[in-house]
Amino acid sequence: MIRIFLTVTLLCCVISCKNEPEKSQDLSESSSEVNTAENTIPTDNEPIKLTQKGFEVTPISHATMVLHWDGSIIYVDPVGGAEAFAGQPSPDLILVTDIHGDHLNVETLKAVSTDKSKIMVPQAVADELPTDFDAQVDVLKNGDFKERFGFKVEAIPMYNLREEALKFHTKGRGNGYVIEKDGMRVYISGDTEDIPEMRALKDIDVAFVCMNLPYTMTELQAAKAVVEFQPKKVYPYHYRGKDGMSNPGTFHGWVKKSGPGPNIEVIELDWYPNK
Ligand SMILES: [Zn+2]
Repeated sequence: MIRIFLTVTLLCCVISCKNEPEKSQDLSESSSEVNTAENTIPTDNEPIKLTQKGFEVTPISHATMVLHWDGSIIYVDPVGGAEAFAGQPSPDLILVTDIHGDHLNVETLKAVSTDKSKIMVPQAVADELPTDFDAQVDVLKNGDFKERFGFKVEAIPMYNLREEALKFHTKGRGNGYVIEKDGMRVYISGDTEDIPEMRALKDIDVAFVCMNLPYTMTELQAAKAVVEFQPKKVYPYHYRGKDGMSNPGTFHGWVKKSGPGPNIEVIELDWYPNK
């Protein structure tokens, strides 16, 4: 009896040890991990660490995310109230791309920012902010650069191309962003189609690219642009449209079928945990 028990225990141990690497592989697939070299394997009580040169992505919802980068915290398009950021550290830098409700919410900005936070916005967003924010707001127009907390941020145009969509995002109003530190470059598309300015991006390590209709673009348009500027990693995000979700898997497939596909890692996260 004891021998049987021991055998079973040993077997379980062998099986669980054998499963260990696959388990961590699964986690890296389903989480926001962007580099296996520096991954830490989470224990049950520990949040998943997602590391590339100290770079971690936490999707909050749709266009809203938290980036942990080299000890600094960056919020992108914080909306959803303070509760959407429960458990997150306060932001050093906040980037807002546009005036629409899925990108700008003044109450959320008030709730999550501290006196030390710097907030980068296009003029159209600045116009919506109460004067209490004046001391911490940097206004960037398309093409402008600003450096804060060691991050160099460039405002990239974001706008529609299709005739029927021109009304959604006029050129010059909103900002996409390229954030750069120590040679690592992260692109946040904001709401845009596959504009020449996106296709011309260079040396992007991580890209967040939108795809939803009728407001931005199709999965195929997004894939064509991504194949052109060839980021090392791309996160499809902002994919809930007027009549349902676009399919990040379709985008993934298009990218992988392309010539440069093998060199571009597509990372699908759940951007709609509360749908
Ligand atoms: Zn949007």
